[in-house]
Amino acid sequence: MTGDRTNVKPGTVIIIGGGVSGLTAANRLKRAGVPVLVLEGRDRLGGRIHTVDLAGDETSWTDMGAAWIDDHLTNKVYHLLNDAGIGVESTKMGLFGHQIFDQKSSRWKNTAATAWTTAKFGWRLGKLQKESTEFSSLDERFAAMLGDKPERADEYLLKYFPELLNGGPGSDVHPNASAKDYWEYKIYEEKTSVMITGGYRHLVDELAKPLADGEVLLNHPVTKVSVDGSSVVVETAQGQTFEGSHVIVTVPLGVLKAGTITFDPPLPAAKQDVIERIGFGTVEKVTMAFKTAFWRRNSNKANHVFAIPDPLDAHGMFVDVTDVAGASPGMPASPCLAYVCGSDTATRAAKNPEEAAKRVAAELELVFPDTFEPPVATATSTWSSSPFSRGCYPYASVDTRPGDFITLGQPIHGGRVLFAGDACADGTFLSNVEGALVSGERAAEAVLEAQLAERL
Ligand SMILES: Cc1cc2nc3c(=O)[nH]c(=O)nc-3n(C[C@H](O)[C@H](O)[C@H](O)COP(=O)(O)OP(=O)(O)OC[C@H]3O[C@@H](n4cnc5c(N)ncnc54)[C@H](O)[C@@H]3O)c2cc1C
Repeated sequence: MTGDRTNVKPGTVIIIGGGVSGLTAANRLKRAGVPVLVLEGRDRLGGRIHTVDLAGDETSWTDMGAAWIDDHLTNKVYHLLNDAGIGVESTKMGLFGHQIFDQKSSRWKNTAATAWTTAKFGWRLGKLQKESTEFSSLDERFAAMLGDKPERADEYLLKYFPELLNGGPGSDVHPNASAKDYWEYKIYEEKTSVMITGGYRHLVDELAKPLADGEVLLNHPVTKVSVDGSSVVVETAQGQTFEGSHVIVTVPLGVLKAGTITFDPPLPAAKQDVIERIGFGTVEKVTMAFKTAFWRRNSNKANHVFAIPDPLDAHGMFVDVTDVAGASPGMPASPCLAYVCGSDTATRAAKNPEEAAKRVAAELELVFPDTFEPPVATATSTWSSSPFSRGCYPYASVDTRPGDFITLGQPIHGGRVLFAGDACADGTFLSNVEGALVSGERAAEAVLEAQLAERL
């Protein structure tokens, strides 16, 4: 070990990562009177929540990571925000909230055809809730649904849209990834879906509020966790070391996969195996602010756009996020779009964000040749190339087995090293903010129980 041991209060619980799970764990422990220290590698809190004010004038807040709250009436995240007086807007993409443009024919589907395509798509996704033993991947399952001569729009939606939902390519996603009761994680019914006015940053601000300056250290990437008896020592890239009673590891699965944090003693084989088996996907966003919402059919109504490429390939969709771009409800909002993409398109975007923004604007011009105007500001996410995420979110891959998400979340090394985050989805939702929040609460509760047991 290098460097001097940095003094922290005896019995401090060290939390690696200042995303939703880490901040939630810190809050719960602090409320119980336990000293906490959050070590965050980035220069900001929030992790895969990152809301940017695109044009810098408080009218174009867009989420580069998490954006939606699903089934909001039963979602803990919504209730936390609601209690804090933070507004949301409904964004459910029903039968009529979007348009489909085919780049091959350069034609828009009319309203009836769009509703029919959407209804078929919804019905096919619904079938995935039933377990099947016939297929080895989601792609195979979709191919059987589509038959020999699928319509371009049907094929495009089934092949590439679920990738945005799951994070991983259909060839690597488990055929039962969305099957009810197959896994230990819960699945949203998606009856409602809302976005937060002014973005998810409001949640991060709420979670960070109770924590004092010295309890959160930014720019402190952790490189090593060592356990010796009842002491846990955490080392950072700068060579600082911190000693605590427990550590809660909340880094994304992509970071665990990369092995940039070493454990001494090493991770047990069972834990290492599930880290390798569970998938971690690639999804990126290009967000754009404009002077006018030239893509809207009705200037007062959000309109999302699917532009089916020719030839069909991994591609994105344009989500109209204008209604939530103001700082808070009632505040001015600029017209904004978020282009969401997966696979190779996302990998390319993360490697070359400027080129991605240009390419996406060019595509918009192709789709709206008469009304297009260039964006006044853009931003491109880099989740897959960032050393602090190395991807977007976890999914059940073809290699993942029931029970893996439980194993991932289990404490190790005599209960001194605990795990939380959106992949630790034992009885909660996988790969989303609510799951991260619940897992953080759970890890904190486990520490409190262990500390109580030690005192008795
Ligand atoms: C493009 C995209 C779209 C999404 N859309 C939605 C959505 O609409 N709705 C939804 O509910 N969820 C969505 N999600 C998922 C959601 O963002 C995550 O599930 C959630 O934010 C995970 O929180 P977490 O605390 O588990 O992890 P994170 O937020 O990733 O927090 C982990 C923290 O650990 C830090 N860290 C990493 N390595 C180190 C290290 N070595 N040392 C110290 N700190 C480190 C990171 O910087 C980060 O702050 C989306 C994610 C992405 C990427």
